[in-house]
Amino acid sequence: MVVRSVNEARRDEIAANLMAVRARIDRAARSVDRDPQDVTLVAVTKRFDAEDVQILAGLGVRDVAENRHQEAVDKHARVADDRLIWHFIGQLQTNKAAAVAAYADQVDTVDRTSLVRALSKGAVKAHRTVGVLIQVSLAGADGAAAERGGCPVADVAGLAEQIGSAPGLQLRGVMGMAPLGVDPAPAFARLAQAADIVRQIDPAATQVSAGMSGDLEQAVASGATHVRVGTAILGDRPALG
Ligand SMILES: *Cc1c(COP(=O)(O)O)cnc(C)c1O
Repeated sequence: MVVRSVNEARRDEIAANLMAVRARIDRAARSVDRDPQDVTLVAVTKRFDAEDVQILAGLGVRDVAENRHQEAVDKHARVADDRLIWHFIGQLQTNKAAAVAAYADQVDTVDRTSLVRALSKGAVKAHRTVGVLIQVSLAGADGAAAERGGCPVADVAGLAEQIGSAPGLQLRGVMGMAPLGVDPAPAFARLAQAADIVRQIDPAATQVSAGMSGDLEQAVASGATHVRVGTAILGDRPALG
């Protein structure tokens, strides 16, 4: 009998899930005549162990995302893998922003000017350049997604200008979360609109981060360059500890 270690079993499980998710991205891209290579998979590792991040790195994943500062800073230190690009995707408190700028490679959830100032200060102090996405509010007319945060489309240009001139920060594009339980297409169309506004201000800021485990196909069809996938790769998240 071949006895497999717990780690090997977990590695096999993640590898199989990863293959399935990559196949979904491939199919979604090809169905709208896009090159699958133009869609980057960001693995959302929040609440999972550092070992899972190491497994993902070994399987070729380069982008990982965390949403809580204390957990992220600990995991970043434990994993200590220079190949990885760490995204911060949580609602960020202004008083923690400078600390996040000391290890995050990119903050995908910037939605207000106070956050830009705090991140810039932290990046400069740490002698780093931190990439920034503007999180755009995709709340519907019914306010379905209001609690998911984000900058109103009308304020995107002003925020983009501010990020563009903030020392230590590099504007890279937009991010959004479609409201749950309804057709995500109108939300992703609104995000595409915001992406156009940002590209007019900085043509190099081309990232469009949209789509999660449940709606990545629609996001890719709407032009997402990055999808953020947790559950479909790592399984159900452990409860908050
Ligand atoms: C948790 C999270 C995801 C991943 O969601 P899944 O449904 O597990 O794929 C994506 N984006 C953000 C901002 C998240 O907080």
